[in-house]
Amino acid sequence: MGRYFSDLFGGSASILRSLWVTLRYLFTPAITVQYPDEHRTQPLRALNRHVLRIDEATGQLKCTACEACARICPTRCIELTGTGKGKNRHPSAFTIDHNLCMYCNLCVEVCPFDAITMWTRIGELSAPVRSDLVYDLKALTAERFYPSPTTPEKLPTPAPEPEPEKVEVAATAPSS
Ligand code: SF4
Ligand code: SF4
Repeated sequence: MGRYFSDLFGGSASILRSLWVTLRYLFTPAITVQYPDEHRTQPLRALNRHVLRIDEATGQLKCTACEACARICPTRCIELTGTGKGKNRHPSAFTIDHNLCMYCNLCVEVCPFDAITMWTRIGELSAPVRSDLVYDLKALTAERFYPSPTTPEKLPTPAPEPEPEKVEVAATAPSS
């Protein structure tokens, strides 16, 4: 008999708690975001489009084309080739097929050089044709800014302009 009443009160309390939650939200103003004119700020750690990171000190890709990411990728959607040796080894081609990617983040976690990130807050990946979702090296390095725990609020850094060619001006001797 005691068990019966205990279950009865426990169940009733559980229902009342649930109703209280519903009641609270009944009087909370709805949050409607007028997408695509308005965008919600995505959490920093949301897994979005990949970006290959740039070493800000050297302006070079951090990637050394070690292929660890390609090997661990469960869907085999990363393909790359590298050129150079040691610290000067960098990818000459790097593609990620976002048609196949399942956003598991394994490629980011395995990277020994912190050279690839999905913390880009770039979540709009729709494309009219599937081939547009295959990002090559150019697309993967187009975004030079990405949020990180140390630079969460840093403004995007534009890609540096190519330096204009220096024109040698010959010194003219003064006429006597
Ligand atoms: S997130 Fe996962 S599936 Fe996508 S490229 Fe990286 S390892 Fe492959
Ligand atoms: S992104 Fe990282 S794991 Fe992938 S090839 Fe480059 S250095 Fe290696």
